[in-house]
Amino acid sequence: MAGTERIRRVANIVRRQQAAGHEVAVVVSAMAGETDRLVNFCREANPLYDPAEYDVVVAAGEQITSGLLALTLQALGCKARSWLGWQLPIHTDNAHAKARIGDIDSDAVIASMQAGEIAVIPGFQGIGEDGRVATLGRGGSDTSAVAVAAAVKADRCDIYTDVDGVYTTDPRIVAKARKLKAVTFEEMLELASVGSKVLQTRSVSLAMKEGVRVQVLSSFVDDDAPLADDLPGTLIVSDEELEGLDMESQLITGIAADKNEAKVILTRVPDKPGAVAQIFGPLAAASINVDMIIQNVGREKGETDVTFTVPSADLVRTQALLEEQKGEIGFNRIITDAKVAKISIVGVGMRSHAGIAATMFKAMADRGINIQAISTSEIKVSVLIDEDETELAVRILHTAYGLDEDSEAA
Ligand code: ASP
Ligand code: MG
Repeated sequence: MAGTERIRRVANIVRRQQAAGHEVAVVVSAMAGETDRLVNFCREANPLYDPAEYDVVVAAGEQITSGLLALTLQALGCKARSWLGWQLPIHTDNAHAKARIGDIDSDAVIASMQAGEIAVIPGFQGIGEDGRVATLGRGGSDTSAVAVAAAVKADRCDIYTDVDGVYTTDPRIVAKARKLKAVTFEEMLELASVGSKVLQTRSVSLAMKEGVRVQVLSSFVDDDAPLADDLPGTLIVSDEELEGLDMESQLITGIAADKNEAKVILTRVPDKPGAVAQIFGPLAAASINVDMIIQNVGREKGETDVTFTVPSADLVRTQALLEEQKGEIGFNRIITDAKVAKISIVGVGMRSHAGIAATMFKAMADRGINIQAISTSEIKVSVLIDEDETELAVRILHTAYGLDEDSEAA
């Protein structure tokens, strides 16, 4: 939410939902830029801030918007009240600044909604086992919204954002990107983990676990825009529901690019049992998330090269840890490259079709794009390429799989 003008827009959306016959609970985020501003205050006050006090400060953004939205709804003639995290309450663990929601007591809020009162709930906050306010990590109001939807057994959790849905790929890269009518939870998780930051990833895992149907839609709408019930956004649902929606089936649902990975090559690692464990053990202990891994076939003299990727932010730490272990691991050299990008094609259609990866490799080969590493899951194929070729790769794949706006399904 940004400013009181946006709050009025949101209030109008909420009022229309209620007028359409729904009992409505609204989870609000802070005004745009507000949480960043509050985080900065904490840094200025004490660079080594105590996470519990940080939570007291940053939870304030949502407290303000929840009160303002309730006031604005009342001004429109609706019955509305705010329910702060500790009032509901939304129970979390004690991991301040990155707390996880446990359970939510929803009896009082359900009773109030049944009596015609709109419930306005600040996202991002709850109350820890220690009795203190706790926040859920940046972007956490998406997760709050899904958790509240599950707790009140909502028909649907509509998430209003600054985009109007989930696209086949980033529309800033591919002008012909299409808005998807629906995606499955798993597809959304894969797309999120490879760089489509529409929702906080945790909110999607929670929705999948709790079976909450989610719709992503734009909050920039006027009063005559279609109602959320007409499903103008993108639905995120289970596999079964997606099948039931009977849409033209695409082999590939979306393409994502992630420039936040870096490549590490260890040369001449001993080709013997335990060598790989010796490399990845210390990285795991340091909570460094290794993604793609390739071990080349052994060379003569019982040696092999091992290539893998880590988040760019962890590259320096990775390098230092490996240098420390150089004697134990027994490699020759570390070669690193932060100028790489991971391009992923995602789609549940892959499960039942052969040749999906081959199409990807062929399309890239035709344009002379070199593939440095490959990884796959049941519904995803990822390749690592030179970062400079990111946009080109996404465009040609978007075309190759028939995803362009004006093209027929592949
Ligand atoms: N206001 C919080 C943040 O910016 C939570 C959210 O907006 O989802 O991270
Ligand atoms: Mg957000």
